[in-house]
Amino acid sequence: MIILKNSMKCHLCCCEKQLIKAHVIPEKFFTPLRSEKKSPILYSNTAGKYPKRSPIGIYDSTILCPECDNYIGIWDNYAQQLLLKEFDESLAVYQGPDKVFYKINSFDYEKLKLFLFLFCGERQSRIIAFSKE
Ligand SMILES: [Zn+2]
Repeated sequence: MIILKNSMKCHLCCCEKQLIKAHVIPEKFFTPLRSEKKSPILYSNTAGKYPKRSPIGIYDSTILCPECDNYIGIWDNYAQQLLLKEFDESLAVYQGPDKVFYKINSFDYEKLKLFLFLFCGERQSRIIAFSKE
């Protein structure tokens, strides 16, 4: 078996390859968190890790090869187009005076399921919370 220098096992295809710095959370999901030139703050539950600015999100260079990162981009892009758009107020669902969510009447279940599976599974190996500064 030949192991390339600096190669690791990709968590998606399970091949030994040179891995890339892959976004743990797709970068576009950070856009709504940015306001007036202030970056989102990254919090960690790891002892000794203090909150820090995270302007374009966080990366992990131990999970994906370039081919798999490109492949899952299809689902990332779909989720971004579906979830980051401005929703019509007629789709809002309220609990008392509080708007709790928007009801999406039509979407591609398979693409969204695969995005959420990856988003909540392999890419999320730690608990991270973001907030506006
Ligand atoms: Zn791979």
